Amino acid sequence: MDILDNEAKLFFKTYKRLPLLIERGEGCYLFTKDGDRYLDMFSGLAVNALGYNHPKVIAAIEQQAKKYIHLSNFFVQEPQVELAECLLRHSKFQKIFFTNSGTEATEGAMKLVRKWGKTNKKTKIFGMTNGFSGRSMGSLSIMDKDKYRDGYGPFLENCGHIIFNDVEDLRTKIDDSTAAVFLEFIQGEGGVIPVSKEFVNALDSLRSRFGFLVVADEIQSGIMRTGKFFAYEHFDFHPDIVTVAKPIGGGLPLGAILGNDAVACVWSYGVHGTTFGGNPVACAAGKVVIETLTAESMKNQLKEMAAYLYSQLTTLKEEFAIITEIRGSGFMIGVDLSTDSAPIVEEMLARGVLVNSTAKTVVRILPPLIAEKKEIDALVRVFGEVLSSNLKGA
Ligand SMILES: *Cc1c(COP(=O)(O)O)cnc(C)c1O
Repeated sequence: MDILDNEAKLFFKTYKRLPLLIERGEGCYLFTKDGDRYLDMFSGLAVNALGYNHPKVIAAIEQQAKKYIHLSNFFVQEPQVELAECLLRHSKFQKIFFTNSGTEATEGAMKLVRKWGKTNKKTKIFGMTNGFSGRSMGSLSIMDKDKYRDGYGPFLENCGHIIFNDVEDLRTKIDDSTAAVFLEFIQGEGGVIPVSKEFVNALDSLRSRFGFLVVADEIQSGIMRTGKFFAYEHFDFHPDIVTVAKPIGGGLPLGAILGNDAVACVWSYGVHGTTFGGNPVACAAGKVVIETLTAESMKNQLKEMAAYLYSQLTTLKEEFAIITEIRGSGFMIGVDLSTDSAPIVEEMLARGVLVNSTAKTVVRILPPLIAEKKEIDALVRVFGEVLSSNLKGA
C-alpha cells in the first residue's frame, strides 16, 4: 500500500491510521479500493449521523455550492440563519455562534464565560476529570488527562478540575469565584460514562446558590445521538450554554455555541469572530441533518433500534464474563471489558466491523443514527465471534 507508506513519510505522526484504503461510503458501509466492505459502527467519530452518501445531504451541498461556497461573516447568509432557527427551535436557547470545530466551540464558550465573569466578578472555570473538550490550549486547560496535556503547559490561569461524579469534590471546589463548570453529560472519549443524577442535582443547587454558568459539552452526545436532542435532556436540568459540533455539518466542519439571552448580551460587535465558522455549505448540509433526525418517524426508529442494540449487547454480556458493563444511551454505547479493548477492536476490524477502543478497556459503539436491525445484528454477531475466539485463545 504505497499511499500508506507515503503518508507515514509526509505527515506529523499525530494519527495512527487504520490499515484501510477507502474508496467510498454508502449508508452504514465503507468500501475499500480492493472492494472489501466494512460496517462502520463508529460513524467517523459520531460525525456521520446520516451515514455516508445520504442523497439529501449531497443535494443540499450541491445546491448551496452552486450559489456560493463562502461569503465571509460580513454577510448575512441564508443557510446560517436557517440552521440557527432549526437548532434553536429544538433547544431552549435564544442565541447561536457558529464555529468550525468542537474545540473552537469550547474556546468560544470559555471566552464568553470569561467576559460574563468580568461583569459578575467570577473568574474560575472548571472542567471534569476524565473529560474531553478538544485539543486547543483553552480546552486542554480544563482537561486533566496527561495523555493530552503532557508537555503543553503552562495552561490558562484560573482553570481547574472537579472529580467527575464526585459530589463532595464539587461542593468543596465551587464557591463565589466560580464562573463556569464545563460538563459532558455522557463522557465520550473518557469511556462513555454518564454523569450521575446526584451530581447533576448537586450542580443545580450549587448554581442556584452561587450563580455560575453550566456549559454542556454536547459536541459528541448532541443531536439525537443519545435518543434525545441533547444528552442533558435525560436529566431535569437546563444548562446556560451548550457546545455542539460533530454531526451538525453533515460531515463538513461545523460547530456552534448556543446560549440564552442573559449570557449572550456580554458579546457585542467585534469581540469574537471567525473567518470560516458557519460555512454556508456546511450549514445547508446541517439543516438536512437536523430535519431528518428530528422527524417523528426517525425518532421512533432510533428509539426502537437503540433498545434493540442494548438488548442484544446485554445478551452478549450474559454469555461473556469478559464484558463487565454496558453504558450509555441511544446510539452512544460503551462496552467495558475486563481486558484491553484494542485487540478486540482490531479483530473486529479484521472481520469487517469498525468500532473504537477508548479509555483502555472500552469498546465504543457510535453507529450512524440510520442503522437498522440488519446492521445491529451484524455488529453483535461479529462482536460475539471475536469474544468467543478470544476466550479460546486465552
Ligand atoms: C470531539 C470532541 C471535542 C472536540 O471536537 P473537535 O472538533 O475535535 O475539536 C470536544 N468535546 C467532546 C465531548 C468531543 O467528543
